[in-house]
Amino acid sequence: MHYQGIIHRYKKYLPVTDATPIVSLCEGRTPLVEAMNIAKLTGVKGLKVFCKIEGLNPSGSFKDRGMTMAVSKAVEEGAKKIICASTGNTSAAAAAYASRVRAMGYEMESFVIIPAGYVALGKLSQAMIYGSKVIQVRGNFDDALNIVKSLSENYPIELVNSLNPYRIEGQKTGAFEIVDELGESPDYLFLPVGNAGNITAYWKGFKEYVPENQKRPHMYGFQAEGASPIVNKRVFDKPETIATAIRIGNPASWEQANRALSESNGHIDSVTDREILDAYKLLHQMDGIACEPSSATGVAGLLKAAKQGLVPENSTVVCILTGNGLKDPSTAIKEVDMDENETYPADAAEIIKVLGLQSLSGVVS
Ligand SMILES: *Cc1c(COP(=O)(O)O)cnc(C)c1O
Repeated sequence: MHYQGIIHRYKKYLPVTDATPIVSLCEGRTPLVEAMNIAKLTGVKGLKVFCKIEGLNPSGSFKDRGMTMAVSKAVEEGAKKIICASTGNTSAAAAAYASRVRAMGYEMESFVIIPAGYVALGKLSQAMIYGSKVIQVRGNFDDALNIVKSLSENYPIELVNSLNPYRIEGQKTGAFEIVDELGESPDYLFLPVGNAGNITAYWKGFKEYVPENQKRPHMYGFQAEGASPIVNKRVFDKPETIATAIRIGNPASWEQANRALSESNGHIDSVTDREILDAYKLLHQMDGIACEPSSATGVAGLLKAAKQGLVPENSTVVCILTGNGLKDPSTAIKEVDMDENETYPADAAEIIKVLGLQSLSGVVS
């Protein structure tokens, strides 16, 4: 049987029955790619670093794992409209799975509320082309979330943000895949923290999949300094960071994240935008691994934690790279010293000059 997505694969761990219409785009089964040079850069002897490339999910982020579950349950319960607030990737995923619901012959409309001006172009365009109604509000993510919460409580429309418990259920399958592939838990799991749904889901996944007497990872979460409510134990009214996917001042799963951190003997800290962008560049340029800027937050965290002596020798680390590198082309272009509008004549002689090449006949061997 061909692969049919996370619900089929991990059915017995998920709240589905034979009556659940499974809405899948074959999400999951994402690769663990080793980041040898990031490992070397940490200076920690014998360290193994693997990146879980969640950007290879159908709409380009880990949000697809939660969305296949949330949307399947919404259809089972007869919902005909779904809504979410989003920093971008949730809206792309909701739009994709709503389209898939229609493809299966059910009625389904999707609505996404996003903070105007703070959603990467790739994500905005996805929500639109999948056929979602996109509403941009002059406010931040937290404002958008408050709006959709009150709408879903008072109108016949299903909330598919990570407050929806089925989202967490789907997302925990990332932990299952890591254990299946490594044969055991890694020692540490590094990941970015925004609304804190993913750190909650991963910890839930490890607890359900790995018996208590076996190794489970320490959860190491990282926020952007300008949006670090959990680290600072206070709401950020005006969160600011280049990492727009985690530009969140009042995380929905704050308490659950704190529980995951204490139960796993974990660690939460923040990194600066500069550290995030440096890690983003290093991943691409030193290990050939792509992700969107926000996703590099866990790797920036690894480099910081290693420097602080928090990562022991010979340990195995998995970094969750939450979103695809193509989501945010403008940040990529800004980070390199190259003018995207500079052009040259279509002439070999000119290009030879630009590349600084010397002719073969001039080379003495
Ligand atoms: C949603 C998202 C996050 C943050 O995940 P939370 O569950 O909100 O903590 C991180 N990176 C990317 C790319 C995301 O889309």
